[in-house]
Amino acid sequence: MVSPEDSLVRAFVGGTSVLPDRLLENSYVEFSQGRIQKVSAIPKRIRRDIEVIDATGSYVTPGMIDIHVHGGAGADFMDGTVDAVAKACEAHLLHGVTTIFPTTTTGSEASIHAMINAVSSVRGDSLPGSQDVPWLPHIEGIHLYGPYFTPEKSGCHKKDGCRTPVRSEFESYFKTGLVKIATCAAELPGCIDFYRYAKKRGCLVTCGHSNASWSEMAAAHKAGMSHVDHFWCAMSSVASVRSRLGPPMQGSMLEFVLGHPTMSTEVIADGQHLAPELLEFAWRMKGPKMLCLVSDTSRAMDMPVGKYTFGNQDENVWIYNDGMVGRSEEGGLASSVVGLDHCVRHTASATEIPLVDVIRMATLTPAERTGIDDQTGSIQVGKRADLLLLSKTLRVQRVVRSLAAPEGR
Ligand SMILES: [Zn+2]
Ligand SMILES: [Zn+2]
Repeated sequence: MVSPEDSLVRAFVGGTSVLPDRLLENSYVEFSQGRIQKVSAIPKRIRRDIEVIDATGSYVTPGMIDIHVHGGAGADFMDGTVDAVAKACEAHLLHGVTTIFPTTTTGSEASIHAMINAVSSVRGDSLPGSQDVPWLPHIEGIHLYGPYFTPEKSGCHKKDGCRTPVRSEFESYFKTGLVKIATCAAELPGCIDFYRYAKKRGCLVTCGHSNASWSEMAAAHKAGMSHVDHFWCAMSSVASVRSRLGPPMQGSMLEFVLGHPTMSTEVIADGQHLAPELLEFAWRMKGPKMLCLVSDTSRAMDMPVGKYTFGNQDENVWIYNDGMVGRSEEGGLASSVVGLDHCVRHTASATEIPLVDVIRMATLTPAERTGIDDQTGSIQVGKRADLLLLSKTLRVQRVVRSLAAPEGR
């Protein structure tokens, strides 16, 4: 059940609130006008004008934030239509995602522009007044993910769509003001210019689908790159760097991320891409403040088993949804088919990671890494009332998605 927040004063009463550093049992979370107003133990008296929502036996958590997601409910953001963007976003809201970053692929320049324009229209950017659609998650920006991948690590993305960053192209995407996360492989010519440009514009700058060496990562990090997409997937290892550059063996993206406290990363926590010990290892190595959970979901989420296109429908890249995960035509892993709520449930049940950290990695950590943590990502007075009621088994029972106040973006 999704309740767009309005002028009523409401409160979740009696639930266990998941705060960034602890659980608060028998809690009271009051919200009105799109903002969290009070977080405390249950007060002796509750004003009669406050609508009480009984949260006994449930968790109250912040709304989830997905920074790496391609679509859902049959729609891929790269379809580039208002309908597709709205459809995919709406599906993710029902999975507890109250803030989303639609993610591009290695599609053509025209299809990336179509996607950005569609996202902009859905946000109502050209309309005066409230730029917000209450039945969709907040769209804080776009993750410019493809096209700047190295072809040898393209994964399920169209190989011939991989290209090197050229300013005349990427500048046209950034000029829309919507790009908030920006990915480029660190061995591509022109990557340093891209990283500096994206960093200057306040993006979370990331390296993904790359076979970069330690020294390429070091140069990238200096230029503003501080995150790596889906750890262990489509990224370099000592062995893959050796195949590319020969001996001596050199450090790879993996060692660089683990060796630098200033580098964050993310894991596709769907239970199909990575075994539980890898999720737990990443958390032990990076800690909950530098590790995000992502869904990396394709259009196959909430859809039956079968064949689906990945990215823009006309670009003819096919994946197979076997009901558990997406597979490429060669049988490799090709995106997930579940929402971030599933990833949270899986991580909580399959690993020793405490619930507080699991929730943080799907909420506050992605908010901090993308610079929106002053607005959302935790249950804190003054932040947006983006809240979830989760059952004891972490199933989404209720979604509260705040209306954005004027300063909400
Ligand atoms: Zn990827
Ligand atoms: Zn992806």
